[in-house]
Amino acid sequence: MTHTLIYPAHAVHNAAGHLQIDGCDVIDLVAEHGTPLMIYEEKTLRDQCRKFMQAFRDRTDDFEVVYASKAFCTLAVCRLVEQEGLSIDVSSGGEYHTALRAGFPTERMFYHGNNKTRWELEYALANGVGYVVVDSFSELDTLERMVADRGGVQKILLRITPGIEAHTHSYIQTGQLDSKFGFGLTEGHAAEAIRRGLEAPHLELAGLHAHIGSQIFELEGFRKAISILVDLVKEAHEAFGFECRYLNIGGGLGIRYTEEDTPVTIEEYVEGKVSGVRQEMARVGLPVPRVLVEPGRSIVAKAGVTAYTVGTIKEIPGIRTYVSVDGGMSDNLRPMLYDARYEAMIANRADAPADTVVTVAGKHCESGDVLVKNARIARPELGDILVMPATGAYCFGMASNYNGNPRPAVVMVKDGAVRTIVERETYDDLIAKQRPFQG
Ligand SMILES: *Cc1c(COP(=O)(O)O)cnc(C)c1O
Repeated sequence: MTHTLIYPAHAVHNAAGHLQIDGCDVIDLVAEHGTPLMIYEEKTLRDQCRKFMQAFRDRTDDFEVVYASKAFCTLAVCRLVEQEGLSIDVSSGGEYHTALRAGFPTERMFYHGNNKTRWELEYALANGVGYVVVDSFSELDTLERMVADRGGVQKILLRITPGIEAHTHSYIQTGQLDSKFGFGLTEGHAAEAIRRGLEAPHLELAGLHAHIGSQIFELEGFRKAISILVDLVKEAHEAFGFECRYLNIGGGLGIRYTEEDTPVTIEEYVEGKVSGVRQEMARVGLPVPRVLVEPGRSIVAKAGVTAYTVGTIKEIPGIRTYVSVDGGMSDNLRPMLYDARYEAMIANRADAPADTVVTVAGKHCESGDVLVKNARIARPELGDILVMPATGAYCFGMASNYNGNPRPAVVMVKDGAVRTIVERETYDDLIAKQRPFQG
């Protein structure tokens, strides 16, 4: 198999010439469950968790790996990452609810968001949440009052906007970052937030958080962000005796969507963060805090693939060939939203040479509903099963019912066994919350 880097670890071509994922023939899976179908390999998912945990354990015993659940938030994945010893980041009442119902221990939950509603905070406080990552002055005030009313003390982190914007291959230092998130460093906002957090009687300020971007391939931006955070820690230590026990440096590790992508490894990423925090804290002469990271994409993306059925093939001579599948922007918005690039293969002729360049289009009524431009695949035929790898992150979570398309089913495979983790929606689900209109 030539694509192992971007497919789940146990993906092979079987004797029938089909793509097989950890003992499950993809063609059998779609015969049973229909298309579009999202297929997750449990071993790859657990393996990504274990790589993070092991990379930390090899370097320190004071760390936490926090799964950013927005990448793929389901009962099954919450449970699985919990079993692997990770903590969880939720960024809405709904993600919190999913983690809670999955049995996730509330003390290992981090609640993010630039506009947590009063109701969402009530819900989390009533059921318990380890850390609220406070994003604004108004939230500091609201939370202090809410906790005071309930009684007790709530642990918090403060989200800092370090003025670093990281992209795949570069970062820029923007000085005054134009961001809706967090406390900026200009005008002393971040230091003022630390002062107020320390003074709030019902809040316990455990440390700081920053998240500088996503799909990042290089470590430079993280190093710069750590250095800026540590300067802030030092300033606040001198001014108000702040002791930073937790330093959460966010997520953002990039993954391979195509063979050309070359992200750093989990090992290198963790090494960069742990040694970065150590060196920077040594520079300012303060104790090393617990190091936290918040990977989302790098935990789940590679574990998941999406299988579609080819419905129409339209050749425009001299221009391009459109291969239309039975999904698209309603199950994978990333190509439209970010120009994200993917590869594809014909799973029922996995061994056939990938000698044809086509554009894989979705079925929605939008010209921009294109999943892969210039995909190199085996010569397509009607009824083929087309698989796109590395769709495990930010696809199902962004799925919609646009054009009246039910959301796909999601299955998890392991050692030849299949478990449905999300059932396919039905047409009745589409109208379940609608009221008949009489009159
Ligand atoms: C989205 C997000 C993450 C995860 O980012 P990935 O790029 O998926 O690793 C982590 N932390 C916060 C605050 C986020 O918003």
